[in-house]
Amino acid sequence: MSGSGLVLVVAGPSGVGKSTLLNRLLKTDPRLKFSVSMTTREPRPDEVDGQAYCFVDGREFERAVSAGELLEHALVHGHRYGTPRRPVAEQQAAGFDICLDIDVQGARQVRDSGADAAFVLIVPPSMAVLEERLRKRHTESPEELARRLETARVELAQRDLFDYEVVNEQRGRAVAELRAILTAERCRIRS
Ligand code: 5GP
Repeated sequence: MSGSGLVLVVAGPSGVGKSTLLNRLLKTDPRLKFSVSMTTREPRPDEVDGQAYCFVDGREFERAVSAGELLEHALVHGHRYGTPRRPVAEQQAAGFDICLDIDVQGARQVRDSGADAAFVLIVPPSMAVLEERLRKRHTESPEELARRLETARVELAQRDLFDYEVVNEQRGRAVAELRAILTAERCRIRS
């Protein structure tokens, strides 16, 4: 991951609002690009292949893993997700900054790889708020909801991994904080 652009890793529990915040940021920042992940989950009705995700089957995902094409990958809620290495490197080399919307396991792998990246954890104002958001967003069974909340607790306990924490209570403020982090990282002197 060499080059001039920055890598911004944005992680946090499912339902915390990462993609909404990042979409807002991306709209107002032409220097920032989005890393399109590969996933084995089925597309949702409004999702176009190649935009939010590249949708692949298990075999293609495994091929990409074996070929070392993924910067990180993880099993999230029963589906596989991974960050293709090449587009990240290409955007950086072209001078763009690139943001990754990934889970905490993936953020840890990027951190462990020694990559030069800024790590941001998005957190809910409380577990009760996260539970309410998940209930509103999905049609999961009570068991699945309980599993997601348990995963969220495990993820939030790993905040030491991150450089920054943004509480997504009021969306406009959370986007402003993300923008401020990006600005600070752009101004940071690197050795
Ligand atoms: P969803 O299926 O709801 O879009 O995403 C489920 C979770 O997978 C989210 O927390 C999202 O951040 C995470 N995710 C999406 N892409 C990747 C990826 O490439 N790697 C990892 N580790 N997690 C991802």
